[in-house]
Amino acid sequence: MNILILGGGGREHALAWAVMQNPKCDKLIVAPGNAGIAQIATCATLDIEDRAAVVNFAEAEAIELVIIGPEAPLAAGVADRLRDAGLLVFGPSAAAARLEASKAFTKEICAAANAPTAAYGHFTDAEAAKAHVRAQGTPIVVKADGLAAGKGVIIAETVAEAEAAIDDMFGGSFGDAGAEVVIEEFMTGEEASFFVLCDGEDVLPIGTAQDHKRVGEGDTGPNTGGMGAYSPAPVLTDEIAERAMAEIIRPTMAEMVRRGTPFHGVLYAGLMIKDGAPRLVEYNVRFGDPECQVLMMRLGAQVLDLIHAAVEGRLAEAQVNWGNDHAMTVVMAPQGYPGSYEKGDVISGLETLPEDSFHMMFHAGTKLTDGRITANGGRVLNATARGASLSEARDRAYALVDGISWPGGFCRRDIGWRAL
Ligand code: ATP
Repeated sequence: MNILILGGGGREHALAWAVMQNPKCDKLIVAPGNAGIAQIATCATLDIEDRAAVVNFAEAEAIELVIIGPEAPLAAGVADRLRDAGLLVFGPSAAAARLEASKAFTKEICAAANAPTAAYGHFTDAEAAKAHVRAQGTPIVVKADGLAAGKGVIIAETVAEAEAAIDDMFGGSFGDAGAEVVIEEFMTGEEASFFVLCDGEDVLPIGTAQDHKRVGEGDTGPNTGGMGAYSPAPVLTDEIAERAMAEIIRPTMAEMVRRGTPFHGVLYAGLMIKDGAPRLVEYNVRFGDPECQVLMMRLGAQVLDLIHAAVEGRLAEAQVNWGNDHAMTVVMAPQGYPGSYEKGDVISGLETLPEDSFHMMFHAGTKLTDGRITANGGRVLNATARGASLSEARDRAYALVDGISWPGGFCRRDIGWRAL
């Protein structure tokens, strides 16, 4: 099968690594890819949000299956156009991608599906939103409706803070994403991520994970795109996962079918778990980054069979072959991240690292400059490993970190602390 993966981060390196191990993969192109992906697949320059350009490219390269990594091409309707052109596509339509692209839409679906989530109000006017905050009290969560790269969520401790966030959002700080605002009850508990494949009708769980968003050890400091993750998430027991399927995921999928916009692809549910019960925090309509790296490390080559089953509507017969294993990924970033940082540092020693089904240094923001790998972004490398226990996976992941030389880079040394 000829396969095209859209995206160029650690998530797409992990997807490419898993997919290409499957003998069904004859040809693999990743657009735009990165320096690590270029070592295992062909990388192509392509505007991945340009629907016509993606379709033309896929047809010219005789692509049979397109796997879409990030949310932006999904929200732009790239999956719709590829499906119209007769290609197999792993990723939802723009209408179904609203589960991520609009928080108000997700809340509406949860209400219709009776799925447990935070109580909320939805506003298009600042005064009404502020009146709601005053009536509810704090802490309270103020969210821009649209995609805001993880920055459109304010957990307000005081009414003044919530009002400032409301003014900010309606004032245009998040562009169109803030034209509507959702105000939610503040939920307490432990967060975990739950991943399921969907073929429009059926769903198949493919793993759980927890990530570390804050830059500093002990989960302190500013938010980032994610500094590390591990799978499985011990808090998401089989029993809670089954409840999440029965109370949240399946009712959501059924409601999407009822509306004529069935969901195809991977649905990533952010759950808040308290007293053995899950509630939905948010949906994403693609793999998380870096959660994808630990899921791919655990699933390996079978992920292509699972994706193939999902795109052909065969998930009811599909099953995951689970190893009794754990995986961890540790993100390496340049000093200064997530604030300002330098690009261009040479990273050495990568060629000496073990690369097998237990260890992979996935690349995110890397570039090949004069034959050497250089740092070219915020999150640069993902040291990823698998083991019989989480501590074994951790030791292997940090051995990868310690096996390279990048004086200008750093990572958190405590990934997985809660579970360990
Ligand atoms: P990201 O892309 O970073 O996941 P997002 O912009 O899609 O974020 P959410 O996931 O809705 O936004 O919220 C970001 C984070 O804020 C959550 O992971 C959670 O920690 C916290 N959060 C959001 N809503 C609530 C809530 N109702 N109660 C408590 N915490 C919340």
